[in-house]
Amino acid sequence: MAGRRPLVAGNWKMNGLRMAVAELDGICQGYDKALHAKADLMVCPPATLILAFADKARGRGVMIGGQDCAPASAGAFTGDISAEMLKDAGASAVIVGHSERRAGHGETDARVRAKAAAAFRAGLMAIICVGETKVERDAGKTLEVVSRQLQGSVPDAAAAANTVIAYEPVWAIGTGVTPTPAQAAEVHSHIRGALSRRFAPEGEGMRILYGGSVKPDNAAALMQAKDVDGALVGGASLKAKDFLAIAKVYSST
Ligand code: PEP
Repeated sequence: MAGRRPLVAGNWKMNGLRMAVAELDGICQGYDKALHAKADLMVCPPATLILAFADKARGRGVMIGGQDCAPASAGAFTGDISAEMLKDAGASAVIVGHSERRAGHGETDARVRAKAAAAFRAGLMAIICVGETKVERDAGKTLEVVSRQLQGSVPDAAAAANTVIAYEPVWAIGTGVTPTPAQAAEVHSHIRGALSRRFAPEGEGMRILYGGSVKPDNAAALMQAKDVDGALVGGASLKAKDFLAIAKVYSST
């Protein structure tokens, strides 16, 4: 994994009320020295919980992230939240270009790129998601699609410290189906090559997470695949026990 520190990030999506702070507390408690020594841990709750989560996690090592941000820093954008607002609430990162936003909100690569640039402007790390649909995979277009998304969604100012790529095959998200470790490794190696060429030497240091139905029982195999530097976890990140079991793949090896 060439010196890159693994990152296990939880995407809570539109789940969690204020009492879910207790679950975050459990995650912070489980982020013990052994795990801290081996991997970064992050939780991305809905925007309504960022402030409370950041307060609970302060000084305990677990990072807090947003799930989306607007390109602009402020203004007449009803319902939107800027990267600066996330930062102000205590976030240190933001997910952009998740397939649920690309598909459900019509987000183009150009818009995702503008959001990632907004994250950099605010001093946040951008977790930029890419991944093919089942139709695209079946048509043999996975690498082509991922290349196009990377080229269009990752700003030129991307560097190892401000950018994480999440490879999330759309057909694996929330389905319980995952690629084999070899299939994941094929795409991760392709992404690594593209980043290394475009962002030399920074591209070598950018982490590439795998996301899509990561669970405690498949995490070890997926995380050990070549060029996989951690996980973006959806459903299984909602319970401290499951999320920690996934992250602890790194402290138990
Ligand atoms: C996600 O949506 O980012 C994700 C990885 O979801 P799940 O783990 O539930 O498939």
